[in-house]
Amino acid sequence: MNCKEALPLMHDYLDGDLSQPEALKLKEHFVQCTNCRTLFKELERTDAMVRSLPPTSVPDDLTERIMGGLPVVKKRNSWLQWVRKHPAASVAVVFLALMFGSFMAMWNQDGELMVKGTDLQDVIIQGDTVIVPEGHTVNGNLVVKSGKLQVNGDVTGNLIVIDGSLNLASTAHIYGQITKVDEVMGWFWYKINTFLEQFSE
Ligand SMILES: [Zn+2]
Repeated sequence: MNCKEALPLMHDYLDGDLSQPEALKLKEHFVQCTNCRTLFKELERTDAMVRSLPPTSVPDDLTERIMGGLPVVKKRNSWLQWVRKHPAASVAVVFLALMFGSFMAMWNQDGELMVKGTDLQDVIIQGDTVIVPEGHTVNGNLVVKSGKLQVNGDVTGNLIVIDGSLNLASTAHIYGQITKVDEVMGWFWYKINTFLEQFSE
C-alpha cells in the first residue's frame, strides 16, 4: 500500500467503515510510514475533538465554511465521509488540527497578560490591568488576554477579551464588536472564525 491508498482508508477507519483485512493493511503501512502515522494521529485527534463538541458550540455551517465552496454534505454522512471523497480537504483538516495544537500551547502557556493591537501608545498597563484612558483613542482592534481591561476612552475597532474581565466606563466608546472568550473552545472557535473571515472578505 502507498500513502495515496492509505489516506481514504484512514477516513474509513475513523468512520468505523473499514473491514478487518483493510485495517490490517493500513496498520502495516503505519509501521513503515511515519508520515501517515502522524497524519492519522492528527485526524484522530481532530475527529475526537469535533465529536466532543456540544452541538451548540459548532456553527451549523462550519464544515461548509471550512471546506468553502465545495459541495454540501449530506446530513446522514459524517463530515469525515465527505472529506474522504475530497482528499484535498484533508489538508485543511490537518491544518486545523495543527492550528488547534498551537492554540492549546498558547492557551496553556500562561496566565500571563497579553495585549495586542495596532495602536497601543495610549494604552496604560498597571499590573494585570490594561487601561484605555478617558479622552484617548485606540485605533483598530484591542485584544487582551489574561487581564482586566478598563476602557474609559475610545476604541475604533473590536474589543476582544480572552480569559479576563472587561469594564466599560460611561465615557467609553467602542465602535466595533465586543467579544469575550472564556474557555479554550471559545478561543479555538474565535481563532477559526478569524481565520475563515480572511476568506470570506
Ligand atoms: Zn504513507
